[in-house]
Amino acid sequence: MTSAATPTVGHDIKPDSTTHRLPLPDEVVPGRVLWPYAISIGLFHIIAFAVVVPWLFTWTAAITMVVGIFFFGQGINLCYHRLLTHRSFVVPLWLERFFVIIALCCLQDTPGKWVAIHRYHHNHSDHQPDPHSPLVHFLWAHVGWLIIRNPGAHNIGVYRKFASDVLSDRFYLKLEKTLLWVWIYIAHAALFTLIGAGVGWFVGGDLASAVRYGASMLVWGVILRTVLVWHITWSVNSITHLFGYQRYETGENSRNNWLVGLLAVGEGWHNNHHHDPASASNQHKWYEIDLTFYAIKGLEVVGLAKKVTKPRHVRQAERQAERATAAMDGQPSD
Ligand SMILES: [Zn+2]
Ligand SMILES: [Zn+2]
Repeated sequence: MTSAATPTVGHDIKPDSTTHRLPLPDEVVPGRVLWPYAISIGLFHIIAFAVVVPWLFTWTAAITMVVGIFFFGQGINLCYHRLLTHRSFVVPLWLERFFVIIALCCLQDTPGKWVAIHRYHHNHSDHQPDPHSPLVHFLWAHVGWLIIRNPGAHNIGVYRKFASDVLSDRFYLKLEKTLLWVWIYIAHAALFTLIGAGVGWFVGGDLASAVRYGASMLVWGVILRTVLVWHITWSVNSITHLFGYQRYETGENSRNNWLVGLLAVGEGWHNNHHHDPASASNQHKWYEIDLTFYAIKGLEVVGLAKKVTKPRHVRQAERQAERATAAMDGQPSD
């Protein structure tokens, strides 16, 4: 874990959702809308509502959507969050970039910006200037912070300070400087549409079936999946800083929430995560199932993930054992 990812500890104010409220971050000017983000998010939600049209439903696309929530969601959970932000394990560069491309298909910004904002959140969680605390209000944390300008968080100084390691990579820097990330998203949407059309042609044997399956795959398999993964990720910022239980006193308002824990495949055990952000696992009890960690373990088993950071209590026990061994080695034998 990089030093930038280490959360500041020892906040003076104990957050309490019932008594402690935060104003908007200082540099936010209400009403200054980030139009490209606002329009994109609005448009995607409108298109996603097309799933109510029966003509657009196919089982192929519906199953693709469900599988896609987990698969592409891992681009955010496993890659952007645990791999790039917290460096809780390492993978070969080719695999890291593959995961980044999967994450770009979630349309949740570039790795440099995502990492910088999340480390910024860890450094100031539920205190000024946390970019997305729900102690401002729920909608601000869920989506408002994405569509209202916040020059205090979204500036080159913050990106350099909190994500210099990510931005030192030429590919990730190129993603910041060009619209390649948009084209990658469009290319994957086109590919899904074409595959859907191919399946439709195979199943129905005519152009009408190909068009229907292609459109179904685009709306269900790409647009709706993108919107649902957005809300799952956003829920980690909003719901798990308001609702749930606190296993640890972490100096902010993070919670373990079983619903987000299930939907975000382990990211909802957010109080555990704030307690020990370096750990690759958020599972501190048997019932706090962390499927994202199981995926990391799977990569480790096949030799693709290395230096998987263990939970804090295991790291501490190992350090104590090492110290005890070193002390014994230093003792003269009689
Ligand atoms: Zn948090
Ligand atoms: Zn984190």
